Amino acid sequence: MSSPTRAAAVRRTNDPAPGPPLLRVRDLRVEFRTSYGLTNAVNGLSYSVDRGETLAILGESGSGKSVAARAVLGIIESPPGYVTGGEVLFDDRDLLTLSRKQLRRIRGERIAIIFQDALTALNPVFTVGFQIAEMFRVHRGMSQSDATARAIELLDRVRIPNARNRVHDYPHQFSGGMRQRVMIAMAIALEPDLLIADEPTTALDVTVQAQIMALLAELRHDLGMGLVLITHDLGVVAEVADQAVVMYAGRGIEYAAIEDLYDSPAHPYTRALMRSIPRADQKGGRLEAISGSPPNLSAIPAGCEFHPRCPLATDLCARERPDVVEFAPGRLSACHFGAEVLSGER
Ligand code: SF4
Repeated sequence: MSSPTRAAAVRRTNDPAPGPPLLRVRDLRVEFRTSYGLTNAVNGLSYSVDRGETLAILGESGSGKSVAARAVLGIIESPPGYVTGGEVLFDDRDLLTLSRKQLRRIRGERIAIIFQDALTALNPVFTVGFQIAEMFRVHRGMSQSDATARAIELLDRVRIPNARNRVHDYPHQFSGGMRQRVMIAMAIALEPDLLIADEPTTALDVTVQAQIMALLAELRHDLGMGLVLITHDLGVVAEVADQAVVMYAGRGIEYAAIEDLYDSPAHPYTRALMRSIPRADQKGGRLEAISGSPPNLSAIPAGCEFHPRCPLATDLCARERPDVVEFAPGRLSACHFGAEVLSGER
């Protein structure tokens, strides 16, 4: 199906249309060529996100969501990875056509990323203050003392207690949650237009997860950024995301506003995901596991990618791969029976 239709539908239907979205990804495709063969990691992903909006990209490990984010940022290691198709329009410029130098400038100034593991993302031999201040020295030409003063302000802003003293500490002297706050401080230092957070809370306990999510939501609001939250954990994004894309086998298989996705999934995979997470509004009963395993991206099943695990699969599902279709305003799903799943008839 056409990508623009999908991308447009990921935006809130009652939004005014002030112009092109901040980021529009169209039909993105990424493959890895290794001596073991070809891996189709991303197979046609489309989405868009506006300033001030949070888009959640959801899916199990191995669904292609992190690879897609790296492709958007131009940080896929090549070889073995190759972007083989699609567009990544940022302010209407296709990032896939830019030189490494142009991309580096955009990544530093306008798009920032937070990775899952802050300990490996931070340099262990420099203080956190030095690493944050470096952003201002390199990109803004500030003196060491001015840059350090800005680093203290930022640590304060992400609520590191006693920031004036802690600016001199090394990454290993912080807890996991505090290190993630330091990463967030670095990411927002230059006030980017877009922040991509790749599993930002996976290594943290539940209370700290909620605090980090609340901080990201607050910063998105205050700075007017677009925020892309990539996670396998549906529980952590319910409160903060506006829109969602569910990925399976390297493509988006459902697109919806977050509350619609939680209330009435239009794809059997999303429905199964929802039934596998605890919900505060549902007491009793058993959580359901999704049978089988995510597909090997080197051997994606013919027909619907989900059919070997789908309780609703028919012969048609094993034969024909469903396109992403809009079954109701703003409700898109790649299922032959999306309308019935959405209405609850199936
Ligand atoms: Fe299940 Fe068939 Fe829909 Fe795929 S197309 S999700 S196998 S019902």
